[in-house]
Amino acid sequence: MSLKFSVLASGSSGNAIYVETEQTRLLVDAGLSAKQIQILFEKAACGEVGDIDGILVTHEHSDHIKGLGVLARKFKLPIYANKNTWNAMNGLIGEVATDQKFEFEMESVKTFNDLEVESFGVSHDAAEPMFYVFHHNGRKLALMTDTGYVSDRMKGIIRDSHSLVIESNHDINMLMMGRYPWNIKRRILGDHGHISNEDCGHALADVIGDGTKHIYLAHLSRDNNMKDIARLAVEQTLKTYDITAGEQIILHDTDASQPTKLALV
Ligand SMILES: [Zn+2]
Ligand SMILES: [Zn+2]
Repeated sequence: MSLKFSVLASGSSGNAIYVETEQTRLLVDAGLSAKQIQILFEKAACGEVGDIDGILVTHEHSDHIKGLGVLARKFKLPIYANKNTWNAMNGLIGEVATDQKFEFEMESVKTFNDLEVESFGVSHDAAEPMFYVFHHNGRKLALMTDTGYVSDRMKGIIRDSHSLVIESNHDINMLMMGRYPWNIKRRILGDHGHISNEDCGHALADVIGDGTKHIYLAHLSRDNNMKDIARLAVEQTLKTYDITAGEQIILHDTDASQPTKLALV
């Protein structure tokens, strides 16, 4: 009995995460072209993308839905999203047959065969952005990116996950010194933007539990972050809480185009 996942791609250029158990295979977001997603499935040895049980959508930003319509039509895959996200995707993903459209409301639980999926809201400038926690056989995997801050409620939901994919979007200095116009900088830094490396570290300090082992730093900004800088900032922030990454807690990188190894939660 095992729960496995691979972060196929992560970052502002496209996001897709694969989750599987013995009986269930799901994709969370399809933010790259259908072709690229098929290639990522092959690279990560995740089997045929056409055989998955469905695609869960987090929100309608293009880095999360770019290949959604094409992929769903090509393989007749069911898509799950909340009502406001469905409305917001109208006109962005092309025609999707009614029998492939499913509602997954925020703060609800859906069971896919042997896999239980819980949705929760985040703070982001989309219609009704939400992320997911997966439960299978006592194991817990939480995914959370694209949020301007991490509320106590969100922390409660993702707390003590065995594996956690969490946003570590930007280095504040790189962002401030960088070439982005001020309104974009303000958007990223705001409550409905993205969390910084330090914010990620602070949030982690509150949600790491006895069972937590693998932390995947995700949705890194291509322009305002680097893997080493993100990892170091998170490590240093955790250290201020007497949490040492290395043995008990392992920090993993994610990449914009290289999938992480299909790993046990
Ligand atoms: Zn977004
Ligand atoms: Zn995003």
